[in-house]
Amino acid sequence: MDHFLYKDGILHAEDVAIPEIAASVGTPFYVYSTATLTRHFDVFTEALSGMDHLICYAMKSNSNQAVIAHMAALGAGMDVVSGGEYLRAKAAGVPGDKIVFSGVGKTAEEMRMALDGGIRQFNVESEPEMERLSQVARSLGKVAPITIRVNPDVDAKTHEKISTGRKEDKFGIPIGRAREVYARAAALPGVKVVGIDVHIGSQLTNLEPFELAYGKVADLTRQLREDGHEITRLDLGGGLGIPYERSNSAPPLPLDYGDVIRRTVGDLGCEIEIEPGRLISGNAGLLVASTIYVKHGEGRDFLILDAAMNDLIRPAMYGAWHDIIPVREAEAGAEQQPYDIVGPVCESGDTFARQRNLPEIREDDLIAFRSAGAYGAVMSSEYNSRPLIPEVMVKGDQFAVIRARPSFDDMINRDTLPQWA
Ligand SMILES: *Cc1c(COP(=O)(O)O)cnc(C)c1O
Repeated sequence: MDHFLYKDGILHAEDVAIPEIAASVGTPFYVYSTATLTRHFDVFTEALSGMDHLICYAMKSNSNQAVIAHMAALGAGMDVVSGGEYLRAKAAGVPGDKIVFSGVGKTAEEMRMALDGGIRQFNVESEPEMERLSQVARSLGKVAPITIRVNPDVDAKTHEKISTGRKEDKFGIPIGRAREVYARAAALPGVKVVGIDVHIGSQLTNLEPFELAYGKVADLTRQLREDGHEITRLDLGGGLGIPYERSNSAPPLPLDYGDVIRRTVGDLGCEIEIEPGRLISGNAGLLVASTIYVKHGEGRDFLILDAAMNDLIRPAMYGAWHDIIPVREAEAGAEQQPYDIVGPVCESGDTFARQRNLPEIREDDLIAFRSAGAYGAVMSSEYNSRPLIPEVMVKGDQFAVIRARPSFDDMINRDTLPQWA
């Protein structure tokens, strides 16, 4: 559920009419609903009730300062995957002891940054990383708390590019080698094992892969404890999917996901961490665009929008579906017709949807992409020298620009000419 509903025939973000924002900031833009972010956090809190837990919001899904500050105020920790994200979390006021650091390629500099600023744990993904981390921590006179990310060889049955828990994926250490790697960790002076980490992929629409992976983590917990390791924390990753196509999908509910956690690892006395990104921010955002032209082609009509693949790359990159709706609600019983919905960028990949049924759309009409709050703005670029688009946050009847649209000069002047030019 989200807070983007029609009121008097006009799409609203909470109590703010979308055309009002469009008139103020211009199109295209992203708009986020604080009530929806809060609701999703609350749903996870309820799902994990009765278990000692920390919800570490996966910032990579949407790392605007206003979004992470809102999540932090709710009590969320953060899952970061780069030094930049770590500094963003700190800048939004998140204490170091609520930040977990994931990722396969942490540099020594990023490790230093996090050790100096404070960190809850590093989720270590390989033996060379563990050796490097131990050295870096020692050089600072510190001991780094770690979990080791295990790769359970479970197929998340999601899109190829966001599946991370099979043995051919680059993530984690094979679970079959975990005992050996934990033994090595115990012998390293600069790291201290606190638990186990797993993350098998994103946009999972079935609970079974979680159940399989978490069952393996539970077995490993018992085994490692027998080997003498203190396992007090289980980081179970993110990945729960959202309904991108509302008429035709019903991904599992967080409450049922919570039951899987309770059933598989709930009796181990461990603190549970989860790292949801998409399920927190995805349905909390819209991308709003305006129709530049309606072009009647041979056998098909194109809606040419002022938003493009550089603003929202998911359809081009993953073949992803976004529900696309008119901002002015169609009259009841209005006829629908199929459109190809495209942006102005000079490649055919810049297609958001083909033969999508919509009521008649005219020039200058506003269009909204649902479920665009996650992996939208954060993956955008200035391809075709299209400046990044603004981000707006709504709370009740108020809205605020949380990232302004850069001017063309801002964009151009970031480049510098070599002295010989
Ligand atoms: C991407 C990622 C997440 C978040 O995944 P969602 O599908 O957005 O919930 C969590 N943890 C790690 C390690 C990730 O790489």
